Amino acid sequence: MEECLFCKMIAGEIQPDVLYQDDDVLAFRDINPQAPFHALIVPKRHIATLNDLGEEDAELMGRLLLAAKRVAADAGIAEAGYRTLINCNAEGGQVVFHIHLHLLGGRPMGWPPG
Ligand code: AMP
Ligand code: ZN
Repeated sequence: MEECLFCKMIAGEIQPDVLYQDDDVLAFRDINPQAPFHALIVPKRHIATLNDLGEEDAELMGRLLLAAKRVAADAGIAEAGYRTLINCNAEGGQVVFHIHLHLLGGRPMGWPPG
C-alpha cells in the first residue's frame, strides 16, 4: 500500500489535477486521457480491485458514482452523456491496483469498447 500511486495522491505526496474530493473519495484528471474529458474517481481507503469489495463497501461504491455524476455535471458533459467503467485485473486492463472508476466523455464513446 505504501507503493500505491493513488494512496500517495490521497496522502498528498503526489499532486494530481483534483476535480473533486470529500471525506471518502478523490476525483482527478487522468494523466493519459482516452477522451476529451477523462477523470478517475477513487475511494480514499485502499481497495485493490473490484474482486476485493465486501458488503461493507456498498455505500462507498455508491459514493464513487455520486462523485462521478457531480464531476460530469461540473465538466459540462452530463447532458451529452459519458461512460463510467472499472477495469479489474489483467484481462480487464487494470494497471493501478487501487480500485478506480473511469469517467470518460466529450465525444461519442462507441460500443463495444474494444
Ligand atoms: P487502469 O488501467 O484502469 O488501472 O487505469 C489506470 C489509469 O491511471 C490510467 O488511465 C492511467 O493513465 C492513469 N494514471 C497513471 N498514473 C497517473 C497519474 N500520475 N495521474 C493521473 N492518472 C494516472
Ligand atoms: Zn492505494
